[in-house]
Amino acid sequence: MPNRAEQEALRAAIYSTPIIDNHAHPLLKREHLSKHALLTMTSEAHGDALPSTKTSLAHVRAVKQLSRILGCERTWGAVEKQLESKRGADWAAWTRTCLQGIECVLVDDGLDGMDSAESYQHFDAFTPGKSKRIVRIEPLVEELIRLHCSRMDQAKDAFIAVLLDFQGTIRAALRDTEVVGFKSVICYRTGLDIIAGEHSPDVVGIMTTTGPAFKAFARIHASIVAAGVQAFKRLEHPRLNGYYVHLLAACIRNSETEPKKPIQFHTGLGDNDIQLTKASPAHLQNFIKSYPSVPMVLLHAGYPYTRELGYLAAMYGNVYADIGEVFPMVSRAGQEHVVSQILELCPWEKIMWSTDGHWFPETYLLAVMQMREVFAAVVGDMLSQGDIDVEEGVRLVGGLLFSNANRLYNLRLTMNKSLSACS
Ligand SMILES: [Zn+2]
Repeated sequence: MPNRAEQEALRAAIYSTPIIDNHAHPLLKREHLSKHALLTMTSEAHGDALPSTKTSLAHVRAVKQLSRILGCERTWGAVEKQLESKRGADWAAWTRTCLQGIECVLVDDGLDGMDSAESYQHFDAFTPGKSKRIVRIEPLVEELIRLHCSRMDQAKDAFIAVLLDFQGTIRAALRDTEVVGFKSVICYRTGLDIIAGEHSPDVVGIMTTTGPAFKAFARIHASIVAAGVQAFKRLEHPRLNGYYVHLLAACIRNSETEPKKPIQFHTGLGDNDIQLTKASPAHLQNFIKSYPSVPMVLLHAGYPYTRELGYLAAMYGNVYADIGEVFPMVSRAGQEHVVSQILELCPWEKIMWSTDGHWFPETYLLAVMQMREVFAAVVGDMLSQGDIDVEEGVRLVGGLLFSNANRLYNLRLTMNKSLSACS
């Protein structure tokens, strides 16, 4: 049995280790906060599925936690009212409170609706470390398709122009010290069963204008030529989406900078835009094997496919497991299972934590608070059982919250522990 001092040392690590938030999104500008429903803090549901979230354990737990911090009645109505009043008072001070404990944020700013959001550097006003960018590739490709298809009559010319511009942008991002990685949402578009490359990625170029990716591209080109750019909604064709993900991986593989910048993949938990049966990270296995030198971070605990995620991260040197978003999107028991299941097989140096915070500062606050409670329970139990000693527990926590992301994204930050007021 660990003695009291050892239990306290582990708890101190959980509550004081600075957090590198390896996957999150921008905050909304204050004047646009009312554009999004506060209920989405704890749920990916929308439309007629969203109101029911009020009876989810994730929501009712968040209401209790927020009401305690806000000093209001333990009802959603009272919490909403208090949060709205925060928008009128000292918004910056409240945002700082919500981001307490986070050292820096790695920001995927490729979401829809970015006109209403702050830039990724906005976090720098609230965190000790500087935020960095993660470049999402699908909106980049869509922008290039609209640009080149609307001004080129020949599909082949437009295809090659998009290809060259895409490669040029990725290579520039690989050199850019503000960019620490890339992100693909192919899970949302055509699923994670990425089709094998139709060419050797070393010779991508003009020869590819005979393959299936080009045929899909030519159909998009024809529709834009006929009806304008509004005819093209989004990139959603298995061959074409996979083509650009292969191109990205080939660019990273061929880059000379070391360590190589990782690709984050959305896996698992998302809204009803995802085909759940194609959201398991296990579908990525062939793609992972094709690029052994390209680091890949599989996001959102792969929930509900967490064990599949742990398997891949344990068995492939280039795969890392992110266990974000489930805080605060699933119940306490669900979060405890996620942490336990990922550690069943996966070495802790391959696991990273994130908030997946987005739009509302409270999403960061809840994620950090719930993570600490769950780490204290699950890692504390491992210590009590004698499975790990206190030094191992402290190293595990430091790895998940700071060191693993610091190393993988080459951030070169120093861990300065300080007890956070948010406990
Ligand atoms: Zn995200």
